[in-house]
Amino acid sequence: GSLAVLDPALTDCRACPRLVAWREEVAAARRAAFAEQEYWGRPVPGFGPADARLLVVGLAPAAHGGNRTGRMFTGDRAGDTLFAALHELGLASSAVATGPGDGLTLYGVRVTSPVHCAPPANRPTPTERDTCRPWLARELELVRPTLRAVVLLGAFGWSATLPVLAAAGYELPRPRPVFGHGARVVLHDSRGRPLDVLGCFHVSRRNTYTGRLTPAMLTRVLADAAKAAGL
Ligand code: SF4
Repeated sequence: GSLAVLDPALTDCRACPRLVAWREEVAAARRAAFAEQEYWGRPVPGFGPADARLLVVGLAPAAHGGNRTGRMFTGDRAGDTLFAALHELGLASSAVATGPGDGLTLYGVRVTSPVHCAPPANRPTPTERDTCRPWLARELELVRPTLRAVVLLGAFGWSATLPVLAAAGYELPRPRPVFGHGARVVLHDSRGRPLDVLGCFHVSRRNTYTGRLTPAMLTRVLADAAKAAGL
């Protein structure tokens, strides 16, 4: 398999009835209100090169962000914050992301999420999280030959991704590492290959608006991750 096969396959997934209904409802309502806007309204694949050394894992596409543009983290404030930081570190060709036609290129970094459809109130159910897990597991397997570090955004990204890493053969310490901004643990797979895992507050508008996550805090974690990944 390859990401060129996996990503298009993902966009046809209809495994979560509540999320299928929601993503289509949001898109239909907006299409009617703004006839000139093309609303994606489907699962949103990860974005970035197949030979990424660093994977940034969020929560799920936003109703009017990724669910609108069809590209992960693209089209809302959260994504603007993330891409600005990646650009500052030389990991993105531009700080501005508007849609698939904007020419944005990521260097050595792929961004994705454990849930690929926009959930109401940004809250997937545990069942939806578990139903979507195999997609992240396959994506991880495909980038794994080059992968050196992951940044997990928020407690959801952290707790949803650690089981995927464990299932992929990375040994988790016991007790399980706890999420926090700046949390960091180095895991090893069965062949002893290391993977740096870093926690970062989510780039959600709520976190950035309240100052819980400042641009400097985000850049710091991403810089540490990039260094660990050899970028
Ligand atoms: Fe499929 Fe994941 Fe969307 Fe559920 S959240 S419908 S598993 S792509």
